[in-house]
Amino acid sequence: MPPSAETLAYRICPLCEACCGLELTVSGGAVTAVRGDDADPFSQGHLCPKAVALRDLHEDPDRLRQPLLRRGGVLEPCTWDEAFAEIERRLPPILAAGGRDALGLVAGNPVVHKMGLLLYFARLARAVGTRNIYSAATLDQMPKQLSSGLLFGHWLSVPVPDIERTGYLLVLGANPVVSNGSMWTVPGFERKARALRARGGKLVVVDPRRTETAALADRHLPIRPGADAFLLLAMAQVLLAEGRVRLGRLAEHVAGLPGLADAVAPFTPERVAGRCGIGAGQIRDLARELASAERAAVYGRMGTCTQEYGTLASWLVDVLNVLTGNLDEPGGAMFPRAPAFAANTQSRPGQGKGVAVGRRRSRVSGAPEVMGELPLGCLAEEIETPGQGQVRALLTVATNPVLSAPNGARLARALDGLELMVSVDVYVNETTRHAHVVLPGLSPLEEPHYDVAFPQLAWRNAARMSPAVLPRPAGQPAEWEILLRLQAICLGLGAGIDAAAYDAELLAEEVGRAAGPQAPAVLQALGGRPGPERLLDLGLRTGPYGDGFGKVPAGLSLARLAAAPHGIDLGPLQPRIPEVLRTASGKIELLPDMLRADLFRAAADLDRPVPALVVVGRRQLRSNNSWMHNLPVLAKGPFRCTALVHPSDAARLGLRDGARARLAANGRSVEAEVQVSDEVMPGVVSLPHGWGHDLPGARLRVAAERPGANLNALLDEGLRDPLSGNAVLSGVAVELTPA
Ligand code: SF4
Repeated sequence: MPPSAETLAYRICPLCEACCGLELTVSGGAVTAVRGDDADPFSQGHLCPKAVALRDLHEDPDRLRQPLLRRGGVLEPCTWDEAFAEIERRLPPILAAGGRDALGLVAGNPVVHKMGLLLYFARLARAVGTRNIYSAATLDQMPKQLSSGLLFGHWLSVPVPDIERTGYLLVLGANPVVSNGSMWTVPGFERKARALRARGGKLVVVDPRRTETAALADRHLPIRPGADAFLLLAMAQVLLAEGRVRLGRLAEHVAGLPGLADAVAPFTPERVAGRCGIGAGQIRDLARELASAERAAVYGRMGTCTQEYGTLASWLVDVLNVLTGNLDEPGGAMFPRAPAFAANTQSRPGQGKGVAVGRRRSRVSGAPEVMGELPLGCLAEEIETPGQGQVRALLTVATNPVLSAPNGARLARALDGLELMVSVDVYVNETTRHAHVVLPGLSPLEEPHYDVAFPQLAWRNAARMSPAVLPRPAGQPAEWEILLRLQAICLGLGAGIDAAAYDAELLAEEVGRAAGPQAPAVLQALGGRPGPERLLDLGLRTGPYGDGFGKVPAGLSLARLAAAPHGIDLGPLQPRIPEVLRTASGKIELLPDMLRADLFRAAADLDRPVPALVVVGRRQLRSNNSWMHNLPVLAKGPFRCTALVHPSDAARLGLRDGARARLAANGRSVEAEVQVSDEVMPGVVSLPHGWGHDLPGARLRVAAERPGANLNALLDEGLRDPLSGNAVLSGVAVELTPA
């Protein structure tokens, strides 16, 4: 075929959680067009403007294509051998002197969109054995994972709305018209929401801002930021006090219901109304409407997680789903059945060990570990504070916490104190500019992909994988190989290890443990594919739809999936209780001790005065965290990092539309352009997060042209939901003055 001939390639979009199937036109070694894949059974042709940016990302001149090594204070290009040799020279002595905890690991959001990074970061973390593991999960989603773990027995047993069959959808702190779901993979949400309304269903949105989703809804209830848990408690109180609970089929599978009425009794609509900014009558009506809807689902997301009561709010979303008889029912909130890698499809169905929390604590603040991680807000103090277990070396993978975590200025200073910092990243960003060695990742187009996590959160069951669209550059290792070589250095096996042979050895050990005498046959069947693909084949074939290595001839395998370029539809969500449960009791634990105890904290806080002005973030269509601001197709157009202020607040504070204002909190301030709009409720200012690209040393030329203000710079890294360790990013008191 001549090099300029056009071919079509199919690729799952890695730019957000919606995981749309894309059809790419490839010509002359470049992507020339991006469309939604109409034949994809899961995303059905949907795409958003970010998808086109895949091409910009691939071609971005700022994207790293060669390792960098700090020489004389400057990051300079080097060879892969030089980069690994430097790490091998410096890291083992640090580990020898400081132990395993001397190495900190930080994973960012894009890791979950890269099969090789996700599977091999988890391996590396297990092999190194450090307690200092951090990720973006404690910035936005750990409360949901913790509440799901406590209720249902696994961190990713997260029920999602069955949107195509529901008659009533209550959305809190989420904007799925823009996000297409988060902790809920639902490409084309807007079309599905319009269909819901067209068939007579109802969409109700609770949010401090009239979001794009609220604008589409039947009803929008503005709520004071940080008050979702109080609203949900009052709704549960109404259901229980008025005898409106109907567990239905779940009755025999629920533990803890008797204690729930007493636990929520103090939170009557009248008691929480002031805190929520919603009238008691409206709260009562909302609870009754939810209870009387024939098929309903409650969904809460970012805003419900990034607040002081994030775990309580996340738990209560599912408590309402249970109390109204909508959990695990068609049209309610249901559990996806993922084709591979889902813990809730493995081991003994219907019972497990549940989840353990607080097996370790952070050294300085004593914050409990959750899901094996410490709060990212603890990282700076763990680097700064001397003593046994101090973080002296750091490996960051696809992450930019200097912008995305609270008080990045402190973290940036701490990073400069590290003895060694290694980053795997595609950019020299505000965080990786501090590294001693930067190892470039690949463009998503250069690697095969399967979504390890998102089928566990999917609106419909499906299996899809994407082969690499473009070849990997000569001499560039795959990302899983990079992590495997770093693992080998940490374990004293040397940087020069043969990654493929090492990988085969590790796989043989794992399969040997799981398959016993069958292991040789299983390994032979898996063949000689590259690392992550072999793990995927293993996951698919032993998964709930798998071929069982020949036992179910029509079942799934990687070969079968690869032969279906648009993916394979596995049908609508199906009831899974009790089989999906992995709690020790084998029941839904409706009132876990940890959450019952946290209700006392909430009750004591009910009368706290409401600040005059608080800040919230906002999700935008052309952005997703900090790393898309360097892509021209997304950066162009009206400047979007504006501070939304209600007209009454603007008048009170002497602010004009288009003028600059100073936002201050915790002794720090940023400046942003004011946008006066009644989109936000009075007393709330909204600024999108992930901006602030004006720090020296970062190499993001497009982003630096319009750097924006960094909301997170104002926030307090020590302010967290104490149960999940999640940062409080929403509802923080700020001052706003003309600049
Ligand atoms: S909605 Fe998300 S997954 Fe779909 S095209 Fe846009 S960025 Fe990609």
